[in-house]
Amino acid sequence: MNTDVQLSSLYQQVILDHYRSPKNKGDLDDATVTVFMENPTCGDEIRLQLKVEGDEITEARFVGTGCSISQASVSMMTQLLKGRKLGDAGTLAERFTSMMHGDKEAAGDRSLKDLRALQGVSKFPVRIKCALLGFDALQEALKRTAENHDEGGAPA
Ligand code: ZN
Repeated sequence: MNTDVQLSSLYQQVILDHYRSPKNKGDLDDATVTVFMENPTCGDEIRLQLKVEGDEITEARFVGTGCSISQASVSMMTQLLKGRKLGDAGTLAERFTSMMHGDKEAAGDRSLKDLRALQGVSKFPVRIKCALLGFDALQEALKRTAENHDEGGAPA
């Protein structure tokens, strides 16, 4: 049975390029946060590592296995993370999540760059989780980073 997502050929090409030649794939030795995420329904796995200095992400790397959508999405995401402020990374994750849930305005946001190639996936509910896996990892990494910053701060 053919369960492949039917996307326009242009977008399909961008996705396949990232899948075959992923950006920022590998270990990050001096990561400040490491998050592992999996999507059991599809068998996708991602380990995202960030190096955060002050309020800026200075490095982003990942390793993972799984379908082309999950791996291309996280590859595209890491391209946009380097040099980005933590708050801006959170905004990016929110924009992309909105797009995957069918938000037309988010889909027209050029700051999403290559990630816009994934907008067609929003029509295929079972694959949305694949596209969002890397961003779920990112949001968890941002949360943990914020918690670490809070340590030793004012009492709750
Ligand atoms: Zn998948």
